[in-house]
Amino acid sequence: MSYWGQKTFLEDLNFRGQRSLTRVDFNVPLDAQQQVSDNHRVMQALPTIRHIVEQGGRAVLMSHLGRPGGEQVSELSLRPAAEELSQLLGTPVTLAPDCVGAEVEAQVQALQDGEVVLLENLRYHKAETKNDPEFCRQLAKLGDVYVNDAFGTAHRAHASTAGVVKFLPNAALGYLIRKELDFLGGLLENPEQPYVAILGGAKISDKLKVIENLMKRVQALVIGGGMANTFLAAQGFTLGDSLVDAESLDPVAELLEQARNRGVQLYLPTDGVLAQVLKADAETKTVALPDGVPEGWKLLDIGPQTLAAYKSVVQNAKTVFWNGPLGVFEILPFAAGTVGVAQALAQATATGAVTVVGGGDSAAAMQQSGLAEQISHISTGGGASLEFLEGRELPGVTVIPDRN
Ligand code: AMP
Repeated sequence: MSYWGQKTFLEDLNFRGQRSLTRVDFNVPLDAQQQVSDNHRVMQALPTIRHIVEQGGRAVLMSHLGRPGGEQVSELSLRPAAEELSQLLGTPVTLAPDCVGAEVEAQVQALQDGEVVLLENLRYHKAETKNDPEFCRQLAKLGDVYVNDAFGTAHRAHASTAGVVKFLPNAALGYLIRKELDFLGGLLENPEQPYVAILGGAKISDKLKVIENLMKRVQALVIGGGMANTFLAAQGFTLGDSLVDAESLDPVAELLEQARNRGVQLYLPTDGVLAQVLKADAETKTVALPDGVPEGWKLLDIGPQTLAAYKSVVQNAKTVFWNGPLGVFEILPFAAGTVGVAQALAQATATGAVTVVGGGDSAAAMQQSGLAEQISHISTGGGASLEFLEGRELPGVTVIPDRN
């Protein structure tokens, strides 16, 4: 069974002469010059936008960018995304001055078939994340039909991702959400074994539930990054000044127990790269972890022995899911583990494994390593992919009505 089931799909809708209010995820990283530094999310939205335009629809796109918290923060304008989209589409894309209000309504009313307008950052209004009904009603005035293709925010019940459908029930899912659900759904339903999940990143509390759910399906669980420290601490290792989440020690001990009971192989770092400060020119040393991390030192990346072991687990896998960096990859001396795992995923894909990378930092690491094209699927949603793999419903999908 597919995870979109009977949900209305954009190919079921008639777009000719219709204003298609379309939620996309243009929450893209910007560089110091306010240019889009990674256009993956914009690229992934193109099939849906092209379909609407080619079918003679009028594309009214909406997205959030960053966390302006209800204020008009000019650095978080969607202008760079509008420019990027215009280049990729090869047609003009107008940026509206806001996402609701009389001026925007007039602008949208004047749209011709095949034209594209991008509304300004939805989160300039607090009402967006509050799913305020009046705001939903105002958004709904801008479309005759609604399409949700923003997988990255599908786990949020916000005005533009869920609430608006009440006022605009002629609604469908776009190509990107369907593709995401197909790849991520494949990880939940009969993934080819050996299935290996690699989890890293700093915050372990966010990932306890997903680890628990993955444990029911994977043959091996590979842990790195700051969250590995809490696993090591739960086993009695000394961690010096490393990041350890004391509140997660008990749940982690339970996970270790569950892995033993289920026969899931759990891989933890056996060596690591340490430094006293988080700086590119910091003095570093590599230590075997049973020896512990001395006072004043932090564990900031997996070591070469650990990387070799993790690579060989990935090489033998038929299905791999990866979320979260294995070290502080933003700083070069602590990037080797993350880059090495990225390479191992690319190699595994070349030899026939299905490889899926959750969004966020691991997706950024894939792009940085220039290996993004060599992975089966890079999700556009970090939080959304994790919540989906936890087994939770995505409100932005649930809200879409079934086909007639
Ligand atoms: P998260 O948002 O939980 O996925 O965490 C991502 C962040 O984890 C990245 O910014 C990394 O720099 C950071 N990180 C990875 N490994 C470590 C580590 N060993 N110690 C501290 N932070 C880390």
